[in-house]
Amino acid sequence: MNCRGQLIVISGPSGAGKGTVCSALLEKNDFWISVSATTRSPRNAEINGIDYFFISKDEFKEKITSKDFLEYAEVYGNYYGTPKSEVLKVLDSGQDVILEIDIQGALNVKMAYPSGLFIFILPPSMEELRNRITNRGSETPESLMTRFTSAHKEISFVSKYDYAVVNDTVDNACNKIQSIVIAERCRVDRMNGDFLKEEISNE
Ligand code: 5GP
Repeated sequence: MNCRGQLIVISGPSGAGKGTVCSALLEKNDFWISVSATTRSPRNAEINGIDYFFISKDEFKEKITSKDFLEYAEVYGNYYGTPKSEVLKVLDSGQDVILEIDIQGALNVKMAYPSGLFIFILPPSMEELRNRITNRGSETPESLMTRFTSAHKEISFVSKYDYAVVNDTVDNACNKIQSIVIAERCRVDRMNGDFLKEEISNE
């Protein structure tokens, strides 16, 4: 892939606050966030086409067959996938794209697109993580337990990411991510080669 925008992949355990941090990032920056397809049912206020594209398992399988996904994964018994053509179009236009996806998906994207920026959101503590999942009120006792147990395993994958950001407050987490993105844009190995050649030839 040869893309001009920055692909920013954000993962973290359930309850780390990825969704809230991503919404805050979108308010303050000219980022575009990919809307995933999923086979899970909508939660309370979720809107089709905004939070997710809610589709059936059959539709999801058709999309896998027609290679419509940049990546996909099964998470907590449901399928989730990133629509490929949309993401590539936005990156080609030069805009930065956020993918808020699980770890399996992120590792698949990393293999296909190692120059992406991989950021892991951590909760300030495991106790706080448990409070946040419980206070969401949308989980059954079983799904709460599944998500909390998975969280321990998921956190062990933090070393596969480029950056770890503790979400103590949304503002702090957002500021850190914005700083990371700005710093990445200034990396010499990400600079346009023509610009560097021009600079050198002008000396
Ligand atoms: P939730 O059901 O809480 O909205 O999401 C469950 C998990 O699926 C979260 O970790 C979320 O980041 C992940 N997820 C959402 N969309 C995608 C996607 O397109 N691909 C992958 N691999 N994971 C996703």
